[in-house]
Amino acid sequence: MATKPLWPPRTAPEPALPERADVVCIGAGIIGLATARSLSRRFGQIDIRVVEAEPRPAVHQTGHNSGVIHSGLYYKPGSLKARNCVGGRKRLIEYCDRQGIPYEICGKLVIATDPEEIPRLDELERRGRANGLAGLERLPSERIAEFEPHAIGVDALWVPETGIVDYTAVAGAYADELEAAGVPLHLRTRVTGIQPRADGIVVETTAGDFEAGHAINCAGLQSDRVARMAGLDPDVRIVPFRGEYFDIAPERRNLLRGLIYPVPDPRFPFLGVHLTRRVDGSVEAGPNAVLALKREGYDRGSFDARDTWSSLSYPGFWKMSLRYWKVGLGEMARSGSRARFGRDLRRFVPELRDSDLMPGGSGIRAQALDRKGNLVDDFAIETSPRMLHVLNAPSPGATASLAIGDTLADRAAETFGL
Ligand SMILES: Cc1cc2nc3c(=O)[nH]c(=O)nc-3n(C[C@H](O)[C@H](O)[C@H](O)COP(=O)(O)OP(=O)(O)OC[C@H]3O[C@@H](n4cnc5c(N)ncnc54)[C@H](O)[C@@H]3O)c2cc1C
Repeated sequence: MATKPLWPPRTAPEPALPERADVVCIGAGIIGLATARSLSRRFGQIDIRVVEAEPRPAVHQTGHNSGVIHSGLYYKPGSLKARNCVGGRKRLIEYCDRQGIPYEICGKLVIATDPEEIPRLDELERRGRANGLAGLERLPSERIAEFEPHAIGVDALWVPETGIVDYTAVAGAYADELEAAGVPLHLRTRVTGIQPRADGIVVETTAGDFEAGHAINCAGLQSDRVARMAGLDPDVRIVPFRGEYFDIAPERRNLLRGLIYPVPDPRFPFLGVHLTRRVDGSVEAGPNAVLALKREGYDRGSFDARDTWSSLSYPGFWKMSLRYWKVGLGEMARSGSRARFGRDLRRFVPELRDSDLMPGGSGIRAQALDRKGNLVDDFAIETSPRMLHVLNAPSPGATASLAIGDTLADRAAETFGL
């Protein structure tokens, strides 16, 4: 997992909060940082601030993800996800080149292991082509070994534009650029309330209160709560899903050249354990997805009564659970089970043994769920007076961050009249 603390906790005091800022980005994950960066490049003359609850940036989803530079294969053509992923990926690669951030375009193989999955693989290929992906290649069973010598399947799709990067490093570079441009990052500064004023808002934080003209809520796992602080009654609630990973033993990493994914179930695009090489050479398997009883708790035993109640008291959660209880039980059974993970992975890499799987890290997805129990699929942005709220930024949010930052800066310019 990408948990390397690229930004060591500051020993110097935090910069002083202003009396009044023009725009505040709430949250120093990759989306809040990219948004502040885009705003500062366009509107250099205004006072922009980033406030972050934790002692360093990228501590939550951004620092606990799979590190994949997604190509744009999965997403419905025309959706915000598709547009921002394809555009964002190209810009991310140029950015990494400029900043000297290591990355690798290693390609990905999506493997069907059952003939029943072939129509879904066809649909993926169709979406990929509609989204303008280059070099997609359909591989009959006997050609799979040309790309991944240890993998098997009945059919596969080769996606050469997929890559890997450490998003903690990318977010750290955005943060460094912001500080160099004179945009202060106020760490250890949790927003606790937002009060309306005639000409702005008062942002209440654990480090003190200040006024702002406008704010952009990029609080990830807490984004629905920050929206409610601002008086919005969002039509969605964040339901946190913990994803657990196993690391492949170092001497068995040679079983994989790049990335191997199963064909996803379109109802749950984030399910299906995959094998991912990371830029540091390690290989991980996962994640599964189980309800997290604490929004920012990474251990299996983590529990927070308020967070648990927030999920369990939401009618949408029960509607989803009734509809998909079988899938949920399957994911729970896989939780922490080396044998289940191993069995799933052997469908496409038969040489993998349970003993090759070593306990790895975990990540928590901020999944927005609507009142009818539907998982919100696309990026979701809502407005309230003087604020924009990012209420769903799932994968490929990190890949797409530069494009999403620009989308949010455009909306801010339009909505806030910057
Ligand atoms: C398991 C997993 C695997 C993933 N894999 C990939 C992948 O391979 N490729 C990809 O492109 N995407 C991937 N994603 C998605 C990607 O990580 C997210 O889209 C992206 O990190 C979202 O960034 P964010 O800034 O919205 O959220 P976060 O990174 O969670 O940042 C939100 C920030 O807001 C802060 N905050 C919260 N509340 C407050 C408050 N009240 N006051 C101040 N600050 C606050 C938090 O401390 C946090 O730092 C994955 C996600 C997960 C969970």
